[in-house]
Amino acid sequence: MPKRSVTEANVSGKRVLCRCDFNVPIEHGRITDDTRIRAALPTIRWLLGRGARVVLCSHLGRPKGTERDDLRLAPVAERLSELLDQSVTSCRRVTGDDVRTAVDELRDGEALLLENLRFEKGEEDNDGELARRLAALADVYVNDAFGAAHRAHASTEGVAHLLPAYMGLLMEREVEVLGRLVESPERPFVAIVGGAKVSDKIAVLDRLIERVDALLVGGGMANTFLLARGREMGTSLVEAEHVDESRRITAKAEACGVEVFLPNDAIVSTSLERKGVAKAVDTLDPNEAIFDIGTETAKSFAGAIERAHTVFWNGPMGVAERPAFAGGTRAVAEAVAACDGFTVVGGGDSVAAVQQLGLADRIDHISTGGGASLEFIEGKELPGISVIPDVEASQP
Ligand code: ADP
Ligand code: MG
Repeated sequence: MPKRSVTEANVSGKRVLCRCDFNVPIEHGRITDDTRIRAALPTIRWLLGRGARVVLCSHLGRPKGTERDDLRLAPVAERLSELLDQSVTSCRRVTGDDVRTAVDELRDGEALLLENLRFEKGEEDNDGELARRLAALADVYVNDAFGAAHRAHASTEGVAHLLPAYMGLLMEREVEVLGRLVESPERPFVAIVGGAKVSDKIAVLDRLIERVDALLVGGGMANTFLLARGREMGTSLVEAEHVDESRRITAKAEACGVEVFLPNDAIVSTSLERKGVAKAVDTLDPNEAIFDIGTETAKSFAGAIERAHTVFWNGPMGVAERPAFAGGTRAVAEAVAACDGFTVVGGGDSVAAVQQLGLADRIDHISTGGGASLEFIEGKELPGISVIPDVEASQP
C-alpha cells in the first residue's frame, strides 16, 4: 500500500517539520561530501515553493545525548543557504523558547534548521516527551530521511504519531525503486554483493536469492564461500563460523536456479601495505591474503552485468580504499555504469566508490540509505516508513 506523499499535503502557510538525513562528513568545520544535503533539496524546494514555513531537522554523528561543538549542524545550514540561495537560520537548540521564537518568526517560504537531534538523549530512546516538543513546533510532519528510516527514534517515529505525517520526495523515490527491485524487477536481474563480511549480508543474500537470476559474490565475503569449497585462504579475512551458512546459501541458490559467480582469480598480497599480485584463488601461499577480485573474475562479472536488465550492487569487490586493491571495484562500477538496464547501488562504501570514480551520474538510482536500503531489501519493516499513513487512509 503506498504511503501518503508530501505532494498530497496542504502546506501553504503551515509550519512543516521536515526530518532530513544531513548526516554528512564534516572535517574541521568543513563539509567534505554534501550528497545527502543535495538529495534533500527537491523536498525542501517543494515545501518552500508552496509557501510552507519549513522547520528542518536531522541527526549528525553519534553524540549520544550530549552537546558537542564538532557535531553542530551550523555548517549544514550554511551549505543549505548556498544551495537554496536563501538564508536558512541554524538554531543552537533542538527545542525550547529560542527555537519557538525562531519558528514563530518564520514567514511563508522560509526555513530554519534545528540543532543536532542526537544532542537530546530522548531522540534515540524515542522518548514521548521529546516527540511532543518536536510536534509542538509544527502543523505537518514530513519524513525525507530514508537513511534513518530503519530506526524508531523520536524524530522518525514518535513524532509521526502526533502530526499529520507524509513521506518526502526522496523517501518516496527510495521506496518506489527498492520496492520495484524486490517486487517486480525486469529480468535478467543480477545482484552483486561484496564488502568485508558475509555475516553482515546473510539476510540480504537470502532475500536476493529468491529474486535474482544471478548472484555475483566478491569482496572479503567471497573468501568464506571459497573456504566452504575447500580452498586454502591463507591469511585472508574469513569467517569460519559462517561456512555452514554460506553452504546453505549456495544450496538455496542452486535450488532456486540462481547462478552464483565466485572469484576464480584474485589480487593477493602478504600485507595491505605491499603491492598485489594476480593469482588463481586455489594457489594462495599460507602468508597471503585476497584483497581484490582478479581481472578474469572482473571480466566475467562485467559480462553478466552487461546482459542484465536490472542490477543491484552492494559492497565493494576488494579493499577499494587502497588504490592497489581497487581495480575489481572499478571494473564492476564501470560495468554497472555501462549497463543499459535499470541499475541501483546501495551501501556506504560502494556508493563512495562509485562517486569517487565519477560514475554516479550513470547509475539510475544511488540509494542514500546504507543500513536502511539493506533492511528494506531484506523485507524488514522500517519504522520510519510504516508509521506514515497509507494513501487510502487519508481519503474519505
Ligand atoms: P557497503 O558500505 O558498500 O555496504 P561494506 O561496509 O559491507 O560495504 O564493505 C566495505 C568494506 O569491505 C571495506 O572497508 C573494504 O575494505 C572491505 N573489504 C572488501 N573486500 C575485502 C577483502 N578482500 N578483505 C578485507 N576487507 C575487504
Ligand atoms: Mg560500509
